Amino acid sequence: MSDNNEKPQEPPRPEVIAEFDKCPVCGSPERFAETLAKEAKEKGHMAPDYEYYTNVIQGPVRQASWENKIPFGATITALWAGTDICMNCGTMYGLKLIKGFAHKPAIPPGGEVPPPGGPLIIGRG
Ligand SMILES: [Zn+2]
Repeated sequence: MSDNNEKPQEPPRPEVIAEFDKCPVCGSPERFAETLAKEAKEKGHMAPDYEYYTNVIQGPVRQASWENKIPFGATITALWAGTDICMNCGTMYGLKLIKGFAHKPAIPPGGEVPPPGGPLIIGRG
């Protein structure tokens, strides 16, 4: 619920900013996690279309020292990046880079202020 006269806005949609399908160093398309995930999918241990990465990096794009200047309930830009490791040369690189969003929690009706950084909901495509 809003206490001003602004119209409710549709939440922003996550947006894929970039995708890479081969190693930026050697050009090989073979990747560590993807290779092992393929085996798991063949055994039926993973959904055929599940995107699996060696690491996922995600979080709000913010400056921690400015936390108190961001209003409660605000929508914050967030990043999401799925990475994997080249099977040929060992380079770790980003496969999918997404601009997402996070929400700073709103103040609950009782007025108790949630802890700084509270739960963040990060959108992903
Ligand atoms: Zn490589």
